[in-house]
Amino acid sequence: MNPEKTEFLKNNVAAVRARMANACLAAGRDPKEVLLCAASKTQDADTVREAAELDIDLFGENRVQELCQKHEACAYGAKPLHFIGHLQTNKVKQVVGRAVLIESVGSEHLLDCIAAEAAKQGICQDILIEINIGGEASKSGIAPEALNAMLERAAACGSVRVRGLMAIPPAAEAPGAARPYFARMRCLFDDARCRSLPNVQMEYLSMGMSGDFEDAIAEGANIVRVGTAIFGARSYPVK
Ligand SMILES: *Cc1c(COP(=O)(O)O)cnc(C)c1O
Repeated sequence: MNPEKTEFLKNNVAAVRARMANACLAAGRDPKEVLLCAASKTQDADTVREAAELDIDLFGENRVQELCQKHEACAYGAKPLHFIGHLQTNKVKQVVGRAVLIESVGSEHLLDCIAAEAAKQGICQDILIEINIGGEASKSGIAPEALNAMLERAAACGSVRVRGLMAIPPAAEAPGAARPYFARMRCLFDDARCRSLPNVQMEYLSMGMSGDFEDAIAEGANIVRVGTAIFGARSYPVK
């Protein structure tokens, strides 16, 4: 790794931490409450290995193949690994047990597949329920109205534990445009937390990305998933 790249990552992480601290200060929150997830999709193992030495709390991967490759290369070091992308059911067995938290569980079918695989492995898999908070046809996640049924279904599975909620709101056209979606997520989160169901512990509210994590923090996010602001613009290899 060249020293310039190391310096680049280090400065970016420091800048993200400063933005997080300011957002927490403005919201009267303790910065220690909010975890920084480095969204490392498309970043190679060496870059991830460097980032693992920096002040980030965990990594989030979107693609199963990348996750497996970097995991096998021990790129994540001691940092926990979350899965944050769309998970096809035929790839569930590669992610269960490897990711400490699967954040993007956005259908009952996927929940059932994860529960079955975790049972097979003899483990309890931690998950977040993904909410399609903008009601967009192009996005994964369950409708907000379907959350109660989903939680009840999860509560009946001994092999999964729901640790909270995750969302990707519609791409914001103007600064602040995502904030009402974050606020709705917070309401869903608080409502769900008030229900006491077995295997459901509402601890994590994962929302906010490079462009809008301050708004997410203002509305109660305690995991922010940041890619571009840490690694720079992504370049997707031509396949
Ligand atoms: C890529 C990605 C992010 C980070 O997005 P940036 O805008 O690059 O910060 C966050 N969450 C998910 C689910 C992602 O796929």
